[in-house]
Amino acid sequence: MAASSPVRVRFAPSPTGYLHVGGARTALFNWLYARHTGGTFILRIEDTDFERSTQEMVEGILVGMRWLGLDWDEGPFFQSKRMALYQATAKRLVESGNAYYCFCKKELERGESPTKEDASGDFSKHRDPCRALPRDETVRRRASGEAAAVRFLVPEVGSTRFDDAVFGPIEIAHSEIEDFVLLRSDGVPTYHLSVVADDIDMRITHVIRGADHVSNTPKQMLLYQALGAPLPVFAHVPLILGPDKTRLSKRHGATSVIAYKDEGFLPEAFRNYLALLGWSPPDSTKEIMSDEELISLFSLEGISKSNAVFDRTKLEWMNAEYIRALPVEQLTERLLPIVRAAGYDADSDKMQRITPLIRERIKLLRDLLTAADFFFTDELPTYDTALLIPQKGDLAMAKKALERGREVLAHTDFNHQALGQALRTAAKEMGLKPGQMFWPIRVAVTGRTASPPLFETLEVLGKETALKRIGKAMGVV
Ligand code: GLU
Repeated sequence: MAASSPVRVRFAPSPTGYLHVGGARTALFNWLYARHTGGTFILRIEDTDFERSTQEMVEGILVGMRWLGLDWDEGPFFQSKRMALYQATAKRLVESGNAYYCFCKKELERGESPTKEDASGDFSKHRDPCRALPRDETVRRRASGEAAAVRFLVPEVGSTRFDDAVFGPIEIAHSEIEDFVLLRSDGVPTYHLSVVADDIDMRITHVIRGADHVSNTPKQMLLYQALGAPLPVFAHVPLILGPDKTRLSKRHGATSVIAYKDEGFLPEAFRNYLALLGWSPPDSTKEIMSDEELISLFSLEGISKSNAVFDRTKLEWMNAEYIRALPVEQLTERLLPIVRAAGYDADSDKMQRITPLIRERIKLLRDLLTAADFFFTDELPTYDTALLIPQKGDLAMAKKALERGREVLAHTDFNHQALGQALRTAAKEMGLKPGQMFWPIRVAVTGRTASPPLFETLEVLGKETALKRIGKAMGVV
């Protein structure tokens, strides 16, 4: 591909599963490369596996891409709508002598070659028998309607070599490549044919995809060459592993991007984290990076050869950093739907006052529901009376603190400064340490021993709710 061609990259998921972390990372790298170079990012849905591809999965992929902010410039194109191109390409390859019809049993189309059982892995001596069929016999059998697959005719000798932008030079001897199927007898293309036909047709300049496709590349290069098309740059990105260094899978927790969305990760944090899974900027000490920084620093040279380990703790840390950096209004906007979806009716003015109190205390947006549910419920869930007892105190002390607290709060303005001052003074007068006074009140109004700052919490709850809850606690001590 001429160095001057404008960059065109694609993300080509198969909708046989949800958009998973690995796929999203591949999409992100393509997107970053397109945005870095001012190129074009194409979305292509590889749905030729009709039995396993579903509309629901297609939707899931689009939702995941949109959530991550990976906007595409062209597509989505669906391979299922482009069958004529693949069939015509297979025909062209037969006509140019680069492929042949194979009449062997249908089962063999899915397996790679009738001679695959050859233990040495040397296909050159055991090529498909149909390779040698005389042309007139092939024509006659086809004309009589006999079903046939189309196989690529792999050169007898030599090797295919390419310089992977990540892994460096890779070379595979042709004797190790079977005459792979291009088109099955039902006219459905195999992955190799459809991917190459499309990449040529869409003028893809850089194929950036998972390292699991390295071994497919020589076959695909043979197709480019047979079709007289310029080769793209191949960049294979390392795999993503779980903490136990096996390939990331459900065993390690959520792998679907949507699950992370639902848990309350911010897309910008998730994107930042994914970008660093197998890529590092030139100054690799920097971890929190805006989109603009990621786009300006992204390069294929920065992609690592070694597999990346998915570290949930680090992802959560990063999410918490992003949460804290959001302006209150914006964080409130993100929290409100979660509160509402949990069945609480929170208005945005109230939420705006709660946000600053909890934002240091949550790692995921959904943590709000456990850290601060007491702001939204009318009734607190029942808690153990023993929780009301302050340190170095007893139930009698708790009772006294609650009684006095209620009296004081009933006559104080509900702003946090006034509340703080009034409760401190009351504690002093009663000979209690401030903490001994605050503890039972905190438990009474929040139902828990750790909460956001007490006076601010009281202020947001309001006088009526605070007094009601303290009264209720007094009934049980
Ligand atoms: N549909 C293939 C996959 O999901 C795409 C591979 C490629 O990018 O060439 O793995």
